[in-house]
Amino acid sequence: MKTLQAFRFALDPSPRVERALASHVGARRFAFNGGLALVKARLDAHARGEAVAVPWTLPALRREWNRAKEALAPWWREHSKEAYASGLAGLADALRNWSASRQGHRAGRRMGFPRFRKKGRGRESVGFTTGAIRVDDQSPVVLPRIGRVRTHEPTMKLLARLRAGTARILRATVSREGGRWYVSFTCEVEREPGTPRRPEAVVGVDAGVRHLAVLSTGERVPNPRPLRKALRKLARLNRKLARRQRGSRHWRATRRRLARLHARVAHIRRDAMHQLTTRLARTYGTVGVEQLRLAGLLRNRRLSRALADAALAELRRQLAYKTAWYGSRLIEADPCYPSSKRCSGCGAVKDTLPLGERTFRCDACGLVLDRDANAGRNLAALAAAVAGSGPETENARGRDASPAVRRAIPEEAGSRRGACP
Ligand SMILES: [Zn+2]
Repeated sequence: MKTLQAFRFALDPSPRVERALASHVGARRFAFNGGLALVKARLDAHARGEAVAVPWTLPALRREWNRAKEALAPWWREHSKEAYASGLAGLADALRNWSASRQGHRAGRRMGFPRFRKKGRGRESVGFTTGAIRVDDQSPVVLPRIGRVRTHEPTMKLLARLRAGTARILRATVSREGGRWYVSFTCEVEREPGTPRRPEAVVGVDAGVRHLAVLSTGERVPNPRPLRKALRKLARLNRKLARRQRGSRHWRATRRRLARLHARVAHIRRDAMHQLTTRLARTYGTVGVEQLRLAGLLRNRRLSRALADAALAELRRQLAYKTAWYGSRLIEADPCYPSSKRCSGCGAVKDTLPLGERTFRCDACGLVLDRDANAGRNLAALAAAVAGSGPETENARGRDASPAVRRAIPEEAGSRRGACP
C-alpha cells in the first residue's frame, strides 16, 4: 500500500546557507503579505461597487504575482520561485479555510481572515515542490537554489528507501522553530500492510512527564537522559521567568530561551517516542490511549499539565498512523472517562486525585498501585471491551466499561472538552 510519510531532520547550516534559508523564508512571507494586501485592496474596491476580480485561488494569485513581481520585488530572481509559490499557496489555503469556516463547512475552531505575517513570529517555513530536491550521502540534503545543507542527524533511513525505490519525495519544507532549522520531506512510501504479532492482545498506554510512558502491563518506559535534563532545565527557566518583571528586557530574553527549550523538549520526546510507538503498534492488536484534552491545551496552566498534554498529543499522533501501518488499532477513551480516578481492580471511582499523588490507593478494595499503571490498566480494560477481545492484564476486566469510548480518528481538530456529566 502507498502511504504518505514525513521524514524530518534537524539541519546544521553554514552561515552562508543559513542566510539563504532565512532569505527564502522572508521571500515566502513577502509573497504571502503582498498577495494578502492585494486581496484586501480588491475586496475594498469591490465593496465600493467597482467591477474588479478578487484573486482567491492559487492560479489567480500566481497570475497577479507574475504580473506585479518586477515592480514589487525586483530582486525576485535571488530566490527559488518555489518560495513565492509557497507563500501564495499558504495564502490560498488560508482564504479557503476562512470561507469554508464562515459557511460552516469546516470542522474545528473558527478561522479568522488571514493576517499579515510578521518576521520572527510563529512558525516560519518555506516549501519546495519542484526543482533540485535531493538526499544523497555526499552531503545529506540538496534544496533548490540553496544548494547543499548539512544535517544534524543521519538521513540513512530515508536514503535507504529512496535507493530501494520504495519512497518518492513529494515536497520539502524548511522551517525554523525555536531558533533551530529543520527540513521535512513529505514522501510517498510503499509499504507492506502488516499484522501485529499478538492480534488478540490489548495494551493501555499513558504518556507523562516523569516517564516517557507507562503501560498497563506495568512497564514504565523511562525518559531518555537528554529529555530528563531538558525537562529539569525547563522547570528552572520557568521559575526564573516567574521572578522577572513581566514585559521587561530580561523577561523577554528568558521567554525566548524558554521557547527554544520547549522546542528542544518536543524534539527529543518525538525521537524517543518513535521507538516505543513502533513497538506497541507492531506487537498489540489493540492500543488504548486517553483522548486529548484539547481545550486544556489552549489555556495557560501549570507547566506539568501542559507538558503532559504535549506528551499525550505526540503519543497519539504517532500511534494514529503507525497502528494503521501495522494493522493494529487505536482506541481512545473519552476525556470524561475517569481512567486515573477509577480503581482498575474493583471499578470504584475516587472523587478527587491530586496530580501530585503518584500512588493510587483504593478505599474500597485496598488496591495499591502506581498511579499511571492504574490508569493504563483502566485504558486497556476499556479498549478490550470495545475490541471484544481479552484484556492484557489480569486485573483489567472491562466489565463496567461504559460506552464512553469510541474508535480513534487521526485528526479531530474540532473536538473540545465539554463539561463531563
Ligand atoms: Zn478497588
